[in-house]
Amino acid sequence: MITPNMHYADLKDSYLFFHIAQKTKAYLQQHPDAYLYRMGIGDVTLPLCDAVIRALHEAVDDQASRERFHGYMPECGAPDLRSVIAQHYRNRGISLSDNEVFVSSGASDELGDILDLFDRESSALVIEPAYPAYVDANVIAGRRIIHLPSGADNGFLPEPGPEAEADILYICSPNNPTGAVFTAEKLKRWVDFANEKGSVILFDAAYEAFIEDPSLPRSIFEIEGADTCAIEICSLSKTAGFTGTRMGYTVIPRALVRKGMCFNDMWVRNRTTKTNGVSYILQRGGAAVFTEEGQRQIRENISVYKENARTLTKVLDALGIWYCGGKNAPYIWMKCPDGMGSWEFFDYLLNKAQIVGTPGEGFGACGEGYLRFSTFGRRQDTIEAAQRLMKLLG
Ligand code: PLP
Repeated sequence: MITPNMHYADLKDSYLFFHIAQKTKAYLQQHPDAYLYRMGIGDVTLPLCDAVIRALHEAVDDQASRERFHGYMPECGAPDLRSVIAQHYRNRGISLSDNEVFVSSGASDELGDILDLFDRESSALVIEPAYPAYVDANVIAGRRIIHLPSGADNGFLPEPGPEAEADILYICSPNNPTGAVFTAEKLKRWVDFANEKGSVILFDAAYEAFIEDPSLPRSIFEIEGADTCAIEICSLSKTAGFTGTRMGYTVIPRALVRKGMCFNDMWVRNRTTKTNGVSYILQRGGAAVFTEEGQRQIRENISVYKENARTLTKVLDALGIWYCGGKNAPYIWMKCPDGMGSWEFFDYLLNKAQIVGTPGEGFGACGEGYLRFSTFGRRQDTIEAAQRLMKLLG
């Protein structure tokens, strides 16, 4: 009889969002007229910007035209799109060639697929609390996972050290769920550590567009030495509202070589084997993000989410509650008041103020005692939620 991948049996139930949905459903059944302020979701609420919509429409029309129709796209991305993304990096002083950029269907797909580049015997370091997909993708592959807890004492930005030794190092900055952002100095220590040990950093930059402090790195390739130890995975999901449209990009420097194998060459081979590229229509929409008009328009949307962050952090500041994130990140990670546990505070907020957050414990054991607020909610809901929070905890 065939043996399935038995590692699936090792996966823990992804109970977090399921459990939240169950609890909110039960609340609404008991209070059918209640309106819930959903501050937990990691999905965006604003529509795609005009420049993207126009490009998508034009691309659909191209597909209806004999002359302008496009069939299969190059597996690693349309050359002109790879070029504008590389230019986007070069504009920020990062030297990158077009063939070091790969167009993807989003960061989730890429975070899973990229593991094909590593031996099954390699180990993976996950800094916790963490985006759950890092752990699950490696459980499925049967890899040894090293969990490195972080906490308020190190601002949820742990240092490398003997307990962090692993082949694959996940670093997410700005972080989901904590909103913490690595400074250049702290990131440099991880880059040096990876180069010294021969590890590879998988740098998840899904929220780079939320960094406003110019001294904070938006790309790991701003750090000297990163081109020999890092892969950067980016997404247009939160940057440009592509959660339902799907597009991202991945940077693999040609200088990233281990045991004579060039990861960039390997990824070209992987993509040409396992995909037929991202659709022409979506790549046209994605390219519009990198135009001057697109950049201006996505900034307008991001500024609404940032306004949401200010609305919520103002209340937390006034209440004297410890939190991190919310300034250079779309997530706010707050300490639950009065020593409450994550789920206890979740229930309290739901029952007393009809606010739905995300219990920190769902992102790893060291998230216990914290709650995550997302700033991607509707503006009016965020304003009302902030007022209710103030009234409840003030
Ligand atoms: N990485 C992090 C840290 C995320 O929070 C998310 C989505 O919430 C993703 C990756 C996935 O992004 P995408 O929508 O591009 O698949």
